[in-house]
Amino acid sequence: MRLSEERFSKAFNASPLLMCITSLEDGRFIDANRSFCLSTGYSREELLGHTSLEMGLWKNTADRLFMKQVIEEHGTIANVESIFVTKSQQLLLGLYSAERIEIGKETCLLFIVMDITERKKIEMEMTRLDRMNMVGQVAASIGHEIRNPMTTVRGFLQVLKNKQDHEEDIEIYNLMIEEMDRANLIIKEFLSLAKDKLIQLEINNLNTIVSNIFPLLQADAMSQDKNIEVRLEKVPDLMLDEKEIRQLMQNLVRNGLESMAAGRTLTIRTFVQDRDVVLSIQDQGHGISDEVLRKLGTPFFTTKEDGTGLGMAVCYGIAQRHGANIEVDTGPSGTRFDIIFPLTTISG
Ligand code: ADP
Ligand code: MG
Repeated sequence: MRLSEERFSKAFNASPLLMCITSLEDGRFIDANRSFCLSTGYSREELLGHTSLEMGLWKNTADRLFMKQVIEEHGTIANVESIFVTKSQQLLLGLYSAERIEIGKETCLLFIVMDITERKKIEMEMTRLDRMNMVGQVAASIGHEIRNPMTTVRGFLQVLKNKQDHEEDIEIYNLMIEEMDRANLIIKEFLSLAKDKLIQLEINNLNTIVSNIFPLLQADAMSQDKNIEVRLEKVPDLMLDEKEIRQLMQNLVRNGLESMAAGRTLTIRTFVQDRDVVLSIQDQGHGISDEVLRKLGTPFFTTKEDGTGLGMAVCYGIAQRHGANIEVDTGPSGTRFDIIFPLTTISG
């Protein structure tokens, strides 16, 4: 009997799945295995005797209620997605299963969670890449066909505008030319989504590029009564396309500024982190909701009345061509975009 007990206890503890035993009634912890403690950040001692609701483990407490109801009716529940909150307030996306078990006189729960946070991230990244690929193909094939005739039309509008007998309509001509320019700008952005876009990677330093473009960004911010702060730490050279990095910064900074009220500050930083070089752009804006976050980078997705919804798609394209990753951290006091360039992309 003791031997078999030891076997089960070892299996329980060695399982890579997060496992715990709680009381069914109120979710009071009776035991938790090593994986459970590792992933949630709580020690066994911190958990035992407390309920999962007290510990704030369920992001949506209604999920626990739902689980309890199903267990009471059917005795078991399998593969339900739910979000858990770790000790350090990180979110853990889990697929949980639970089984009703009787221990002594008490009705308990064997609760098992598979951590799918990473898997979900990769899935979302793949969907985003798919979308980008499709748009990229369209951009490559029709972008130029639209741009050429537009250039012709704009050119002739300019000629007509300057004719003596069209002086009365000069406002109308100006408006038409402005509209052509705006359409052209959108197409230019759209074109930069082209899948097989060529870029010129050269040895360059992020700090140099940031310093070069800073006056432009600063002027933009000042005109809106907002500030930009730059904090550059020494970072190694990378293989970069300066024009593209400028575009990336412009898009991110523009979004940041647009999200902020007057008087607020946007911070641009560069630093080394582990084996990566990071370009970080942090705003003090209103943050990004979960729903918008999920769609971020989808071409033409915008929440702004006069937005094009291309800025972020372009950013993701640029990052991809540089082998860089974009990480987003957002909340009610602002959003931070980290562009993470792996050092391994340096040549020589
Ligand atoms: P656009 O700026 O033209 O709307 P983007 O692709 O640049 O297109 O951004 C898409 C959407 O993402 C924006 O409409 C906005 O809702 C959201 N967004 C992007 N960056 C931020 C930010 N820093 N703060 C808040 N919302 C943002
Ligand atoms: Mg934008």
